[in-house]
Amino acid sequence: MTLKASLASAFKDKRLPCRVRGCEKTWLWEGIEQARWMRDGKTDPPQRMCPECFGKFNELVDVEVPCAREGCEGSWTWTRGARLAALARDRTEPPLDRLCGACRERSKKIDGVEVPCRVRGCDGSWIWRPEERMRADGGEGTAKPPARMCEECYQRFRAATDQPVPCRIPQCDGEWIWSRAMQVEAAAAGQAGPPKRMCGECAQVLGEVEDRPQPCRVRGCENEWVWNRFAQVEARRFGSGQPPARMCDECYSELGRLEDRDLGCRIRGCDNTWVWTRNMQLEAKQRGRNKPPRRMCDRCVTEINRFEPRAVACKHEGCEGEWTWSPESQLAAALGGRTEGTPRRMCEKCADFLKGAKPIELECASCKVAITWTREHQLNVALGVWVKPTLCADCRRASATSGSGV
Ligand SMILES: [Zn+2]
Ligand SMILES: [Zn+2]
Ligand SMILES: [Zn+2]
Ligand SMILES: [Zn+2]
Ligand SMILES: [Zn+2]
Ligand SMILES: [Zn+2]
Ligand SMILES: [Zn+2]
Ligand SMILES: [Zn+2]
Repeated sequence: MTLKASLASAFKDKRLPCRVRGCEKTWLWEGIEQARWMRDGKTDPPQRMCPECFGKFNELVDVEVPCAREGCEGSWTWTRGARLAALARDRTEPPLDRLCGACRERSKKIDGVEVPCRVRGCDGSWIWRPEERMRADGGEGTAKPPARMCEECYQRFRAATDQPVPCRIPQCDGEWIWSRAMQVEAAAAGQAGPPKRMCGECAQVLGEVEDRPQPCRVRGCENEWVWNRFAQVEARRFGSGQPPARMCDECYSELGRLEDRDLGCRIRGCDNTWVWTRNMQLEAKQRGRNKPPRRMCDRCVTEINRFEPRAVACKHEGCEGEWTWSPESQLAAALGGRTEGTPRRMCEKCADFLKGAKPIELECASCKVAITWTREHQLNVALGVWVKPTLCADCRRASATSGSGV
């Protein structure tokens, strides 16, 4: 066995990565060459191109590219090595931000400038580097710096992803996109979460509507409340489209001062109560009524349906008139345990007669003493039951006694 052969067998052929950045191919390092490499005392393996890259490299030539600074006549050399690396990353055009050698030298003499972060609410800054300034205006300070983020904002921007956020209208399933830029701005302003926003469809409706004043729902109140645009979006997209019944601000705060009140049932003999709610009180107040109304309790409201108005004969003998026994007093009678019979009352005509009548002074036909003709007696005479008196009580008794004695 020759020396060459034994060396070759000690080192096996190896595949090593192509040295062109971005290229994933390999080249073959033969065992025999590895042996030579080791013998020369080199430890790191050589940096070489894969056969494809090497082939391309041989076809490429260095290119002169104009200086990035406007107005500069200089150029820089895009070497075939750099072109090959660019090719590996699918780039065939030279970078456009590079300066010629002279400009690069001059840029070393100017300073970087601190520029405020472009994110609203952020007080960070970034450095506008000398080469960039050179590109912009030759370092003369006439160009405006570009809008850029500070490092912190930029890192946040890179780490963030656009996020879908639910529409702020509770019934809506829509979403809007909280962009990375908006997230960075929110973080700079110290806001933790996304703002409240509408989805695109809701936002469109919002753009079509305007705040609308509506009448206060409290009867008797002439104030208005404002049906705002947000509420209108909700109503138009997910409701009836009609404004809700709502109170004006004044009524609302008045309502806050009121309390529900328990009031006694208006039916005589009933101990139950009914609730005069705050809303009812408010309405009464708006109509200038401060006294609570007289109402029945819930039970009486139901119970009263058992009764019908009843015509009852006047209590006065000889009167054909009737009076009406109302369901309410029938209910009161029932609650008081008076279930039998009807109350004795006079008809309206009789009541009117008594109201209009006055006691009349008469003279006894026999002894001339004054006698009082009462209203009740007058009524009975009018009804044809009794006769108008002519004698005083004493003369009447005397005549009755003598009469009976005859
Ligand atoms: Zn390669
Ligand atoms: Zn230049
Ligand atoms: Zn910033
Ligand atoms: Zn929506
Ligand atoms: Zn009102
Ligand atoms: Zn009651
Ligand atoms: Zn009568
Ligand atoms: Zn008399």
